[in-house]
Amino acid sequence: MLDKFGRNIDYLRVSVTDRCNLRCRYCMPPEGVKHLAREQVLSLEEIEKLIRAAVKAGVKRVRLTGGEPLIRRNLVHLVQKVSRLPGLEDLSLTTNGILLAPLAKDLKRAGLNRVNISLDTLMEHKYREITRGGSLAQVLVGLEQAIKYQLTPVKINVVVQRSFNLNEIRDFISLTRNSPIHVRFIELMPIGCGGKLDKEFVSAQEIKDMIGADYDLVHDTLTGGGPADYYRVRGYKGTIGFIGAISDHFCAKCNRLRLSADGKLRFCLQQDRYLDIKEPLRSGASEEELVRIFTQAARNKPASYRQSGWNENENMNAIGG
Ligand code: SAM
Ligand code: SF4
Repeated sequence: MLDKFGRNIDYLRVSVTDRCNLRCRYCMPPEGVKHLAREQVLSLEEIEKLIRAAVKAGVKRVRLTGGEPLIRRNLVHLVQKVSRLPGLEDLSLTTNGILLAPLAKDLKRAGLNRVNISLDTLMEHKYREITRGGSLAQVLVGLEQAIKYQLTPVKINVVVQRSFNLNEIRDFISLTRNSPIHVRFIELMPIGCGGKLDKEFVSAQEIKDMIGADYDLVHDTLTGGGPADYYRVRGYKGTIGFIGAISDHFCAKCNRLRLSADGKLRFCLQQDRYLDIKEPLRSGASEEELVRIFTQAARNKPASYRQSGWNENENMNAIGG
């Protein structure tokens, strides 16, 4: 699908639930957020139908996300159906990793290619603090199982926050020494609860400058690399990447659409504009009509989020990060 600016839109992020088993401080308030009513949430059959239409429209890569996608019952079944769609080249999942260990083998068998695990600290007490109650030990077993069952390349997403984990950057880099783990340092975005944490922001450039002198870094590339800029410490098995969500101007290369758990097809993470695809789906739209809605959504993508500013009013769990 080509948009008005000549970008090829072939990547769809699908939020399978707005719910989560954690409450990361930059994503959700401690008391949680108001959840969608059950009937508003797309069923797995509806999600499958929409992904099928998206692939017909030209989508080649799909990422399942949330909320926390692994709390959605029968997710493995959805993976099984979607992974078989002709034309789909890559099916991946973003997870906090809490429920990954018992599911990794089944997910791989069902056809999932790879996982991204969100992990902001390697210290148990800090993990409990930032996620408001999560267990780091569970995530680390999940990471081990993801590597064991070859949900690879396994990527770890670290949202860098100045007073919280800037002092752990070297520990994360050490993870890449002997394991094929790909750690990506991500800039904190002023979305949802992140909007109140502006003092915690650290730019990708600052991190590069901080570590550049201490490591022999060589440029690298990675499957499904997206907007990250990758390096390898010479001799290490894994890589490190930097995602300058704020400081880099990667809108010109943006190739994605987002489908929320309640069937909103969004053109840009930073805008609250969307096309409702749930209503036509539930009113019996044909596959051709659904394909047309995806194509129209691609055409509606803005050149840049700077056209409209940041969407600070919604939390990432609702948009599907
Ligand atoms: N629950 C899953 C997880 O945490 O991986 C998937 C959904 S979560 C919304 C997707 C990603 O968004 C996570 O890597 C999380 O760290 C990131 N995220 C959430 N709020 C953010 C913010 N304000 N700035 C930067 N990244 C954020
Ligand atoms: Fe849940 Fe992911 Fe948001 Fe953390 S970042 S609260 S794990 S949806």
